[in-house]
Amino acid sequence: MIDIQQVKPSIFSLEYLTLEAWLKDNKEPKFRAGQIFDWLYKKRVTSFEDMTNLSKDLRDKLSNDFNLTTLKTLTKQESKDGTIKFLFELQDGYSIETVVMRHEYGNSVCVTTQVGCRIGCTFCASTLGGLKRNLEAGEIVAQVLEAQRALDGVNERVSSVVVMGIGEPFDNYDPLVSFLKTINSEKGLNIGARHITVSTSGIIPKIYDFANEKLQINFAISLHAPTTEIRTSLMPINKAYTLENLMDAVRYYIDKTGRRITFEYGLFGGVNDQAEHAELLAKLIKGIKCHVNLIPVNDVVERNFVRTPREQIFKFEKILKANGVNVTIRREQGHDIDAACGQLRAKERKEETRG
Ligand code: SAH
Repeated sequence: MIDIQQVKPSIFSLEYLTLEAWLKDNKEPKFRAGQIFDWLYKKRVTSFEDMTNLSKDLRDKLSNDFNLTTLKTLTKQESKDGTIKFLFELQDGYSIETVVMRHEYGNSVCVTTQVGCRIGCTFCASTLGGLKRNLEAGEIVAQVLEAQRALDGVNERVSSVVVMGIGEPFDNYDPLVSFLKTINSEKGLNIGARHITVSTSGIIPKIYDFANEKLQINFAISLHAPTTEIRTSLMPINKAYTLENLMDAVRYYIDKTGRRITFEYGLFGGVNDQAEHAELLAKLIKGIKCHVNLIPVNDVVERNFVRTPREQIFKFEKILKANGVNVTIRREQGHDIDAACGQLRAKERKEETRG
C-alpha cells in the first residue's frame, strides 16, 4: 500500500506565493511562478516536460519535487440532463467522486474534500465508511481542472464551484482555504469568489476562523432542523456544536463579512417537513440575513428516509415565505447516475483490490 505521506506532493497544492518561495530556494527568478501557473491553469498541460519556456534544469527540479498527475479518471458517467460524474483514483488507491452540473447560466463543479467523512449525518452516503483521509489542497484543485478539461472539449468553462461533495470541508480546513485561494486567483483558475460556495455541517470554531479570512465567497450551513432534538437525531455533530452556538457563529459570520448566508434544509418525510417545523424554522432564523434552500431528500439505499410529497414541499415553502424568509427549492440533477446531494461516496478500491 502506498502511503500518501511518502509520495511527492501535488504541484497544485502550491499557492502562488508558495511557488515563488520554492523558486527562490532553487535560485530561480520569481517571474517563473507566473509562467508555471500559466502552464498549469491556462494551458493545462499534463507534464512538466511540456513547459517549454522553462529550462530543462527547472523542469527536472519541478518533477523531482512535485507530482502533476494525482487524479486518474476511472469512470466518467454522463446523465440525461448533462450532469457528469467522475470517479477519480488517488495515488494511494482510494477513489473519490466529483460532479459537474450543467446549467443554462454556466457549469458548476461539486468537489470532494475528504476520502469519506466522520460527521455521521444519518441521511448521507458519504459518511457510511467513516473517514479514510483528508485530501491535499492539490487533490481538490485537480478536480476542478479535470472538470475544466472535460469542458474544454465543448468549449465551455467552469463558471462556479461548490464545495459540497464528499467530506466535511471544515474538517480539512487549511487545505480547503489553500484550494479556495488557488482557484480564485487570477493567475490560477480565476473563478470569482461570488461563484464559489462552501458548505459545512457546522464545525463552529472553523466558522469563526472562516469569517476572519474575509473571503467574499458564498457560505452555506447544513441546518436541516429547527430544533435541537430533531437536529441531534439527524446530525450527531449537533451534540458537540449546539444549535444555539451555531446560530451565534452564523451571526458573527454575517457581521464580519457583510454577506448573506444560505441554510440548507433537507426535507425528510415525517421528520422535519411539517407545517409546525416551517413555523419553528422561520422563528429560529428570524432577523438573520439569509436564504433557505430546501432539498427534497435523495434516496440513499442504506438509509430509510422518505421523500416529502410535492404539495407538502410547496406548503413548507409557502409558510416560510409568509414569514418573510427568502426561500428556494433546490433543482435536482444527475439522479439517474447517483450524483445528487448526499449520494456521493468514497470507494475503497485499495481494500477491494487487496481482498
Ligand atoms: N459536509 C458538508 C458538505 C456536504 S454538502 C455539509 O454537510 O454541508 C451536501 C449537502 O447535501 C449537505 O447539505 C447535506 O446535508 C445534504 N445531504 C446529504 N445527504 C442527503 C440526502 N440523502 N438527501 C438530500 N440532501 C442530502
